[in-house]
Amino acid sequence: MAVALIVAAGLGERLGASRPKALVELAGRPLWEWSLCTLREVAAIGRIAIATPPAYEYEGGVDEVSIGLPSSLDAIAVKGGATRSESVRLALAAVGEGQDSDLVLVHDAARPLLTVKLIEATLTAAEGKGVDAAIAATPVTDTIKQADGESVVRQTLDRAGLWAVQTPQVFRRGALERALDVPREVLAQATDDASLVERAGGRVVVVPAPKENLKVTTALDLELAELLLARREG
Ligand code: C5P
Repeated sequence: MAVALIVAAGLGERLGASRPKALVELAGRPLWEWSLCTLREVAAIGRIAIATPPAYEYEGGVDEVSIGLPSSLDAIAVKGGATRSESVRLALAAVGEGQDSDLVLVHDAARPLLTVKLIEATLTAAEGKGVDAAIAATPVTDTIKQADGESVVRQTLDRAGLWAVQTPQVFRRGALERALDVPREVLAQATDDASLVERAGGRVVVVPAPKENLKVTTALDLELAELLLARREG
């Protein structure tokens, strides 16, 4: 049975809200709760751990993390770390021991438009022969240029074969554990966990995902997510 980790411990300063991003309300629920509800619909997922913002450290259970969910939920809340990958490491430790070949799904609370279909597609791809990780992503449609510190363009990348990476990202547990077992400075540089697996020589495959699975970073993203959720629910 797979386990899922929701990383929700970031402060999300670019959103400009008065509380950590995962606790900001979206269509009547805190942002992170949308992902939890979707993950709970997937039969292949057994346990779920949520890395919560440090300021919201709790003692006891999920009820006390100011997230207002019934304690009957099979979800564990743990204090997150200083960086995203540290939050993943702490949440993974909280779900308990597992086999090397078990699947671990990592999802950013900042992506509330997650769907069961995408979760299942990513889990299936991660079960492929020789695959260490399968990650949701969309092909890049913009032209991508690299500029220096003075805004002068230095090169234009060939966008064929470029993917904008999202979560969920699903890993073989052993591959993820080995990838996370690196110095703090290396963890701090990683903007996703798959890059750590790549760094360790692992085989990572992309799974085409809808653009709707957007990441809430700014107030505009929050507005867009609200519109997309209204369309989905209505
Ligand atoms: O900052 P960014 O939007 O890239 O963060 C991606 C995800 O990682 C968010 O869901 C955020 O809550 C989480 N995160 C975390 N612990 C941190 C930093 C970010 O769980 N220390």
